[in-house]
Amino acid sequence: MDVYDITIIGGGPTGLFGSFYAGLRGLKTKVIDVLPELGGQLTALYPEKYVYDVAGHPKILAKDLAKNLATQAAIFKPALCLGEKVSNIAQVEEGGETLWKVQSDRDEHLSKTVLLALGAGACVPKRLDMEVPTDWEDKFIFYAVKSKERFRDKDVLIIGGGDSAVDWANEFSVLANKVTLIHRRDQFRAVQSSVEEMKRNKVNIKTFYELKDIKVENGDVKEAIIFDNRTGKEETLKVDAILINIGFVINLDFLREWGLSMDKNAIVVNEKMETNLPGVYSAGDIASHMAKLKLIATGAAEAATAVNFAVTFINPQAKLYPGHSSNLNLSI
Ligand code: NAP
Repeated sequence: MDVYDITIIGGGPTGLFGSFYAGLRGLKTKVIDVLPELGGQLTALYPEKYVYDVAGHPKILAKDLAKNLATQAAIFKPALCLGEKVSNIAQVEEGGETLWKVQSDRDEHLSKTVLLALGAGACVPKRLDMEVPTDWEDKFIFYAVKSKERFRDKDVLIIGGGDSAVDWANEFSVLANKVTLIHRRDQFRAVQSSVEEMKRNKVNIKTFYELKDIKVENGDVKEAIIFDNRTGKEETLKVDAILINIGFVINLDFLREWGLSMDKNAIVVNEKMETNLPGVYSAGDIASHMAKLKLIATGAAEAATAVNFAVTFINPQAKLYPGHSSNLNLSI
């Protein structure tokens, strides 16, 4: 079995930049992600949203940023294992070397170091409590927006009071025929400025309302029955699409089982992005340290730090600081 210098678990922005940077440092690199596509949340959760706080991009669509990151990572041809769920990492002795064996649902991988860039973890959208046939999903019930066009000129019902629900209500207010947002209380988790924007936009906001039933005819949604949770009073809305943004379920217990030191739902790292396991690093949203900022920009910086220290872990004689990439005379 091929031994990699670094195996990056997570193909989101931090993992992809880490992969590029590992290539820059001459490391034989592998990226594993449970999702079928690279880009992490950029691709899976908000591909059509603009991101404004990435260095060098005044504004960029999340899906375009993901594509650029994947293109940048591809320069050094990392091995890619997509749609593969890692179940364990463990130290093993192979050919006189101490290596990490990364076990997935499909394969085993051997690596000198590991970079955990799991973002928020393998989070799945929280489902409604009511029974919803699976073939309704991505037809007229949506837990994520893969394409805004699916909602053009439609009567859309959005459920939730967090940033996802409110951001989409704002985006759809200029695209859909009618947008109704229901939220179970009158306090929003979403940032105040977005809520204020939603109030100015053409969004029918109904607080203290929840979904009771979905009426489907000939395989298509017709109506949503909503109710006021203070009085029980019901209302019928004509709908073509229902977007459910009621948060995510994250289970990170497996990281504790791998022996990682955790701080709530995050992996504890030091200033070198080292975890408590030798040769195992972490970067991005999943990594926790004193000065933590969960930004794509800081995730990239943390990935570069982790990779540089991984280089010296593999070869203690290697330079930690490689110099500026503009001085590397790369033929790429
Ligand atoms: P979230 O912040 O967890 O909000 C979920 C919302 O759904 C809450 O308002 C919650 O109500 C409601 N909810 C939960 N369970 C429900 C149920 N069974 N029935 C009805 N309503 C229910 O989720 P999110 O909006 O997807 O955001 C996730 C994270 O991503 C957050 O940290 C968010 O800030 C971030 N995010 C950021 C941006 C951005 O920066 N533009 C965009 C998207 C997401 P309660 O408030 O009553 O609990």
